[in-house]
Amino acid sequence: VTARIIDGRAIARSIEEEVRAEIERLRFRPGLTAIRVGSDPASEIYVRNKAKKAHQLGLRGDERILPDSITERDLLDEVQRLNEDADIDGILVQLPLPKHIDSRKIIDAVDPAKDVDGFHPMNVGRLHLGREVLAPCTPAGCVRLIESTGVPIEGKHAVIVGRSDIVGKPMAALLLQRNATVTVAHSRTPDLAAVVKQGDIVVAAVGKPRLIQAEMLKRGAVVIDVGINRIPENNRSVLVGDVDFGHAREVAGWITPVPGGVGPMTIAMLMRNTLTAAMWRRR
Ligand code: NAD
Repeated sequence: VTARIIDGRAIARSIEEEVRAEIERLRFRPGLTAIRVGSDPASEIYVRNKAKKAHQLGLRGDERILPDSITERDLLDEVQRLNEDADIDGILVQLPLPKHIDSRKIIDAVDPAKDVDGFHPMNVGRLHLGREVLAPCTPAGCVRLIESTGVPIEGKHAVIVGRSDIVGKPMAALLLQRNATVTVAHSRTPDLAAVVKQGDIVVAAVGKPRLIQAEMLKRGAVVIDVGINRIPENNRSVLVGDVDFGHAREVAGWITPVPGGVGPMTIAMLMRNTLTAAMWRRR
């Protein structure tokens, strides 16, 4: 038997449709502002896509483009202006920032109530305490993908590969909250294969093409592939995940493709967070 494919595009579309319908019923339009510093081409595309999606769903979305040469002080002032602007519900600082700016200081400066990325230490703490929170978009999207399979999370052994602040760690908190037994593997884990083998749910967030091989997986596992890796293959540049999809689908019960799995969910959850932030700020 081959795995069933988790269609991230379709699930993201349905979340976006819910968000659009909820916004339509409001008497105001929630506003999302993305700050982008410099001209990293990948960041340009990400931010443009977020703004485009915001408009499609009836949000006000705009982009502050600041020069590479901006000082940390001026960037902090810009964040402060957005914090104080009552019409702005969500603030997003596109990472990475130029090297002369300490991204931690900038993240810490964003009003936690407008922190739609869920990166502020206050929100990270609330997430780990199981409080009401704006959770980071990518891991929150992964939870929705796992839930879409109908496989209950409670009591399952979830193995997360990667311990980054934006994916691995918050993923662990979200799954623990849902009563999974959670293992977080990382670059210093000696026998990754033996650890992954235990996973009823496997979330790969590493950034290494096809690190997770079919032989490493437990039969029937739910496999969520966060990785986005561009590699040359047959004289073309192709996008692959952290999981060897072609072989893994013969072993897994459910699996996300790359592209078309986790990717579209991140932006959908960002829209959801912006709406949530707008509602919470007005209650
Ligand atoms: P990161 O580089 O911050 O973290 C990578 C993690 O992988 C680290 O914790 C490291 O310990 C671990 N790791 C590295 N080598 C390993 C190995 N050989 N075995 C086990 N663990 C290992 O990366 P990140 O920001 O968490 O992103 C991970 C991947 O997910 C990247 O490919 C990134 O592009 C992708 N990503 C996708 C989305 C999306 O929207 N789909 C969002 C964020 C990140």
